[in-house]
Amino acid sequence: MKNIPELFGSMVFNDRVMRDRLPKDIYKALKKTIKMGQHLELDVANVVANAMKEWALEHGATHFTHWFQPMTGVTAEKHDSFITPDGNGNVLMEFSGKELVKGEPDASSFPSGGLRATFEARGYTAWDPTSYAFIKDGTLCIPTAFCSYSGEALDKKTPLLRSMQALDKQAMRILKLFGNEDVTRVLTTVGPEQEYFLIDKEMYLARPDLIYTGRTLFGAKPPKGQELEDHYFGALKPRVSAFMKDLDEELWKLGISAKTKHNEVAPAQHELAPVFSTTNVATDHNQLTMEIMKKVADRHGMACLLHEKPFAGVNGSGKHNNWSLSTDTGKNLLDPGETPYENAQFLVFLTAVIKAVDEYQDLLRVSVASAGNDHRLGANEAPPAIVSMFVGEELEGILESIESGSVYHGAEKVQMEIGATVLPHFAKDTTDRNRTSPFAFTGNKFEFRMLGSTVSIAGPNIILNTIVAEELRQFADQLEKAKDFKAELQKLIKKTIKEHKRIIFNGDGYSAEWEKEAAKRGLLNLKTTPEALPTFISKKNIKLFTQHKVYTESEMRSRYEIMMENYCKTIHIEALTMIDMVKKSVIPAVLGYENELMSLVSGKKALSVSCSLEENLLDKISRLADCMYQKLGVLENAVLGADEITDTQELGTYHREQIFMNMQNLRETVDELEAMVSSEYWTLPTYGEMLYSVL
Ligand code: ADP
Ligand code: MG
Repeated sequence: MKNIPELFGSMVFNDRVMRDRLPKDIYKALKKTIKMGQHLELDVANVVANAMKEWALEHGATHFTHWFQPMTGVTAEKHDSFITPDGNGNVLMEFSGKELVKGEPDASSFPSGGLRATFEARGYTAWDPTSYAFIKDGTLCIPTAFCSYSGEALDKKTPLLRSMQALDKQAMRILKLFGNEDVTRVLTTVGPEQEYFLIDKEMYLARPDLIYTGRTLFGAKPPKGQELEDHYFGALKPRVSAFMKDLDEELWKLGISAKTKHNEVAPAQHELAPVFSTTNVATDHNQLTMEIMKKVADRHGMACLLHEKPFAGVNGSGKHNNWSLSTDTGKNLLDPGETPYENAQFLVFLTAVIKAVDEYQDLLRVSVASAGNDHRLGANEAPPAIVSMFVGEELEGILESIESGSVYHGAEKVQMEIGATVLPHFAKDTTDRNRTSPFAFTGNKFEFRMLGSTVSIAGPNIILNTIVAEELRQFADQLEKAKDFKAELQKLIKKTIKEHKRIIFNGDGYSAEWEKEAAKRGLLNLKTTPEALPTFISKKNIKLFTQHKVYTESEMRSRYEIMMENYCKTIHIEALTMIDMVKKSVIPAVLGYENELMSLVSGKKALSVSCSLEENLLDKISRLADCMYQKLGVLENAVLGADEITDTQELGTYHREQIFMNMQNLRETVDELEAMVSSEYWTLPTYGEMLYSVL
């Protein structure tokens, strides 16, 4: 049995290590930088760098890297060794403060959406001391932000840090109004629950679609899917259990507090949840978690699939973004609290979130839009593409009574006067029943459930933080001017509930009635990525981000280009993979089986033996094969057709309507054929084989 507290964070240059290894004044200066985001002087950086290097060498590291998160959605690293020649044919192991605080990777091959002209393609990476350095595979990794030389963000971390600052600033204004003198900062916290699939590595390697696109582009339904619901929370199979144990340890070493693990609904599907942390750290940790999941799976002879929809017909994978606000004194601002005063403050933050979600439904939808997630949102397993909020009956009753000024008919009948009456306590189980809501209040946090399993949580949290910052700004503007604070507060909360309660929906988000009802309420229903993305650069949204200094307008336009381009590229690669697989394995399988049937027919005919089975089968398969071939041609033409389009939005729509739709069409016929062709000829692993491959 390993000593877990000793193991935990053993590969992290964390606070404990810093305190142990840095001179007191340096430690203090560094802490100040971490806490207040202040500039780090070079002489301080030099001492920190040296201590880091000594620590890293003791832990077996030979290299260092600035670890960053470009717009590709995955992390990037370029390793440099600590080696420096000493002039006498020997080497020293060196690492300077300059190397710690700033890196200059040649960044011309990362997506920039036109932000950098190619002649100034260099970007730089800057240390983010709020996320601890760590050792991975013998390399000291320094979490960094990635910018162009003119200061434009080229990554996901920079705007995330900016959005946390924006929210801090506005939330502090509200807290000041309520007289919180001891608080100096407000942080956002996130706990992302991560879903994934595990299949046998041999199966994975036999499916080019999984290798190139992360999902199966074909596959007839297996006789058994998830209908028995016997997998959810089921006992862990030995191989899975061994994987999870190993994964936990790897994550713990990196200071990632992996906490919960269980089987999910679909066969071969699982989930991992960490204990929440500040958004910035949670984002870094989630990126690392996904990377390490794949690595550990490989070690166990399995492949970890993080795609949102690896298999049609069974549930896809998502990520629940549990989000809250907390003070540096440790108080959760979405906790209703016990006193009328705490309740009133809670209601300000709650209604700010309600208003934010209603006014920026489009942005929340954009934040989870991807080709992969289009398979989930709106299908009968994930929240719909319509953004709405669940607050639970009890809280809804309270909001209603505040709005109408009437008596609250809950457990206690009280007139809701903000700042005077105590809210009843919400037990978690009264707020956590509805699993179909895209955005649910769960007692002391919100759970945003529309995220796909692969997405970096940076995007959704940048948006969440910024939209809530904006509402808090409006609230603070109004309340700071008030002569009678309590009366103004009551008025503000009442008005906000009245104007934005349409976003609250406590019913079944999967039902067809909700789609109709939501349309009646005027809620957006942006079904696909190409429909959703253009709303990102609407006037309203550009004003929001520029006002809070989270994005400049050009950064937004470049991000829009990158997001749509990513969408089109994904569909393009899927289409090419599909075409290739049909030609290289599906057609040969069909022809082989047809050939066998044909020789049976002619052989039997020569003997005057009945051969209606063979003839019937052959006829059906031939017709289907012709149909498949025709659909293949249509898809090939559709792919070529994209070359003629230059407009970004048009290109997105084209990929959805012409290419993706024709892929679906082709798949249908191929899946029918799979169900008829002998498994002797069908070389691709089947759904049944893949989903039940790990024992
Ligand atoms: P489930 O949604 O599966 O019922 P929980 O609601 O208990 O599970 O927790 C899910 C995630 O929410 C965990 O990662 C947990 O750490 C996180 N969480 C709990 N409190 C907060 C908070 N104040 N801020 C952010 N995340 C939180
Ligand atoms: Mg959850």
